[in-house]
Amino acid sequence: MATDCTWQKKIDTILAQAGNRVDNVTGSISMPLYFSTAYRHEGLGKSTGYDYSRMTEPTRDVLEDVLAQMENGAKAFAVSSGMAAIQLVFSQFKTDDHIVVSDDLYGGSFRFFDLLKDHYHLRFSKWDGQDYQVLDRLLADDAKAVWIETPSNPTMKVIDIEKTADHAHQVGAQLLVDNTFYTPLIQQPLNLGADIVVHSATKYLSGHNDILAGVVICKTEETAAVIGKNLITIGPNLAPFDSWLLLRSLKTLPLRLKKQEENAQTLVEHFKQSAFVSDVRYPGRGGMVSIYVDKAVNIDKFLSALEVASFAESLGGTETLVTVPAVQTHADLSEEERQKTGITAELLRISCGIENSEDLLRDFNQAFAKATTKEEELING
Ligand SMILES: *Cc1c(COP(=O)(O)O)cnc(C)c1O
Repeated sequence: MATDCTWQKKIDTILAQAGNRVDNVTGSISMPLYFSTAYRHEGLGKSTGYDYSRMTEPTRDVLEDVLAQMENGAKAFAVSSGMAAIQLVFSQFKTDDHIVVSDDLYGGSFRFFDLLKDHYHLRFSKWDGQDYQVLDRLLADDAKAVWIETPSNPTMKVIDIEKTADHAHQVGAQLLVDNTFYTPLIQQPLNLGADIVVHSATKYLSGHNDILAGVVICKTEETAAVIGKNLITIGPNLAPFDSWLLLRSLKTLPLRLKKQEENAQTLVEHFKQSAFVSDVRYPGRGGMVSIYVDKAVNIDKFLSALEVASFAESLGGTETLVTVPAVQTHADLSEEERQKTGITAELLRISCGIENSEDLLRDFNQAFAKATTKEEELING
C-alpha cells in the first residue's frame, strides 16, 4: 500500500482512506477489485508478487494491511468466516495440547472446541475469567494457550487482558483474544499483551449484516509465519468481492460504532429505570447490551411485538437486533452450563444499531407493554 503521508495518521483517517492511493495507474479512489485467481509470469523465477489467489490477492492484501494497522499487529489474515478464523488459529495446535478457555464465549466456539476434543484429542479446561489462582493451576498443566472473549458473550463479564497475558506468558502459553464485541477502536488486545486477535468480521467490522468474514491478526512475524503457512495449506481465504466489501465497510466503522455506543448508553439508562427489566449488563463501552427481563414479560409476545428492532441472531450491524441466547447462540450448551453462566430464558442480548434512539426506546416500551401479563389483565379484565 502506498505510504505517501509523512506523519503517523490517526485510525479514522486510515479507515476513511482505505484502498485509496493504491492504484497509481488509474488513480482510482475506490480500491480496484481483482477477480483473477492466476497471475501471468514473465519468465522462470519471475513474479509480480502475485501467483495464485489462495496465496495472495491484491484486494485482500490491502484489506489485510488495514486490519493489521487497526489492531497494531505484524500481519492480518482475512478469511471466510469468524469460525474459519478460529479454526485457523487452532491449526497451530496438536493432539494432547491443553488450552484454557474462558467460560462465557460465543456458542459456536464451544461447539468447535468439542469437535477438537472428540476428533483430535485436544484438551480443554474452562476458567471463569476472574480467579487467577485457578488460572495458574490450569496453566501449570502444560497449557499451550488461553482463549478469551472480553466483554464476555452474552453476560458481559470483563476480563483483564494485560493480567491474563502476564499469567499465560509466565508458562510460555499464548493469549488468544476474540475481539469481535469491542473492535480495535475500543480495545487493542495486542497492545495489552495478547499474541493473536480474531474477529468475526461478520459483525461490527462489516457492520451491515451482509458479509460473512473473519480475521486473524498476529502480533509477531514469527506467529504470522505459522498462521500464514497453515492458511495457504487449508485455504479458508476471503473471496475478492467480500474483501472489497469489507474494505469499504471499514471506512465508516468509527461513525457507526459511535452511534451504536450512544444508542446503547441511552437504552441502558432507560432500562435501569424500567419495571420490565430486572437487571442490565453493560460494560460501559460498545453497542452490546444484555438485559434480564422481568418474569411478567412473555418473551415470545415481546419479540413479535417489536416494530423497529428485529429478533435475529447476529450483531454489530446498522439494524438493532435482539437475540435470545438460551435458544439461539448458546442453544448447544447443556442446561446446567447455561444456568452456571447466567444464560437464562429471561436473558436478552441487544445489538444496538444506528437508528434514532427515540424510535428504539418507543419500540422497546410498546413491545414490553404488549407482552406483560399485567397489561393482558388490564386489557382482558
Ligand atoms: C459470530 C461470532 C463468531 C463466529 O463468527 P462467524 O462469522 O459467524 O463465523 C465468533 N465469535 C464471536 C464473538 C461472534 O459473535
